[in-house]
Amino acid sequence: MNPETRPFSTLRRCGAKTRRGTACQCPAMKNGRCRLHGGKSTGPRTPEGLERSRRARWKHGRYSREAKEAAREARWSDPVYVEARRQADKRRIEREMDREQWRARRRLKTAQREFEEWLRQSRIALRAPKD
Ligand SMILES: [Zn+2]
Repeated sequence: MNPETRPFSTLRRCGAKTRRGTACQCPAMKNGRCRLHGGKSTGPRTPEGLERSRRARWKHGRYSREAKEAAREARWSDPVYVEARRQADKRRIEREMDREQWRARRRLKTAQREFEEWLRQSRIALRAPKD
């Protein structure tokens, strides 16, 4: 007899331990527990199920890994794009070099100022005993 059409009294019971400590009397589902004790779904497990789940909300695939990959390949085979990227890289490197030069110049200035200050201080110290 189909378990779905059996009289309610003969249905298999859930049997989970309730808060009262008694066994749950709700009719069990296929997994042996009722709708309150074990839920309906634990999600897809088989490769087919997982794939179906993945495709369930698929719209057009324009942002899929394959589409993005294809777009990237197309860009890199376009000489205009490649040249633009090369120019951008060149500008970026030049900017970094300028910045590094500026830092080096500032470091040098600071060192010079410190040296001059040290020199002034040591002259004062040398002169001091004579006064
Ligand atoms: Zn139950």
